[in-house]
Amino acid sequence: IKKIGVMTSGGDSPGMNAALRSVVRTCAFHGVECLGIYRGYQGLIEGDFKEMTARSVNNIINKGGTILKSARSQEFRTVEGRKKAFEKVNASGMDALVVIGGDGSFTGGMVFNEEFNFPVMGIPGTIDNDIYGTSSTLGFDTALNTVVECIDKIRDTASSHNRLFFVEVMGRDVGHIALNAGVGAGAEEILIPEEDMGKDRLVESLKRSRESGKSSSIVVVAEGDKTGDNVFELKDYVEKNMPEYEVRVSVLGHMQRGGSPSCWDRVLASRMGVKAVESLLEGKTNYMVGINNNKIELCPLDKAVKGKTEIDQELLRVSDIMTV
Ligand code: ATP
Repeated sequence: IKKIGVMTSGGDSPGMNAALRSVVRTCAFHGVECLGIYRGYQGLIEGDFKEMTARSVNNIINKGGTILKSARSQEFRTVEGRKKAFEKVNASGMDALVVIGGDGSFTGGMVFNEEFNFPVMGIPGTIDNDIYGTSSTLGFDTALNTVVECIDKIRDTASSHNRLFFVEVMGRDVGHIALNAGVGAGAEEILIPEEDMGKDRLVESLKRSRESGKSSSIVVVAEGDKTGDNVFELKDYVEKNMPEYEVRVSVLGHMQRGGSPSCWDRVLASRMGVKAVESLLEGKTNYMVGINNNKIELCPLDKAVKGKTEIDQELLRVSDIMTV
């Protein structure tokens, strides 16, 4: 392998730039050329490439988002689109690809590999931590820190006014952000899609904590949770059943996706980038780089795409005990 292409694809996440930096510099270290691909698979189709040297990635380890830009490409989902991409790839001399993104991006990589026997390596970049084969995705830790900081601030208002706050956090169909940030921010209740608490049990529990002397409460709700139709309906229900409480809703939204990556995400990105490039150089393909028990290891891409992450039962129990 003489020339490796690298792209960021799908939703952006903090740590993508740090991973890009690591891929580029590992290529430089091993004397391999590196091409940055702009706007994910759309840029692959259009041949929007730029040669990257060790110096092209100065001063980006601390930056959120992705300097390569990201995109969702409908065209890449078609055979014709992927053919165009392969032509551009061939013309550029690129002979392997590192995809920093989520499961959709990995699926795209697998399809490309299947059709053209092109070596592909994935690095998981998403704040949701919803990818099988790694205990942590790039951006997850940063998002947790952002959420905890926001909830700390909301708590100031909640406790000053004896209010109940529902705080909706991101996470797609999984509750990893909600559970971890909820425990970290000392939330009274954490509602996640993996567990159905039910509206009545929620009200009972909130009444119990009120009776035990709590005058304000924070309930963290994962965006994928189905306890209520949505967080506003949940608010109405609780207000109706607990008129003594003033209830407010805060939907944190996209601020969770941005920001300077945490030290953990920067270090993880650096480790993953090295592993991705060196695995390609060893002739491996169709893997995702993951971290498990603090060891960087490979997981077959199809498993990473198809597998489901599980909620941490021990942490769930900790959160239950903390709300006594
Ligand atoms: P996020 O977790 O933020 O959504 P993602 O990587 O899952 O990130 P997607 O939009 O699902 O984001 O996928 C990114 C891109 O990957 C798509 O826009 C498309 O170009 C490509 N892709 C996804 N699925 C396929 C597929 N089945 N065949 C070909 N390309 C695909």
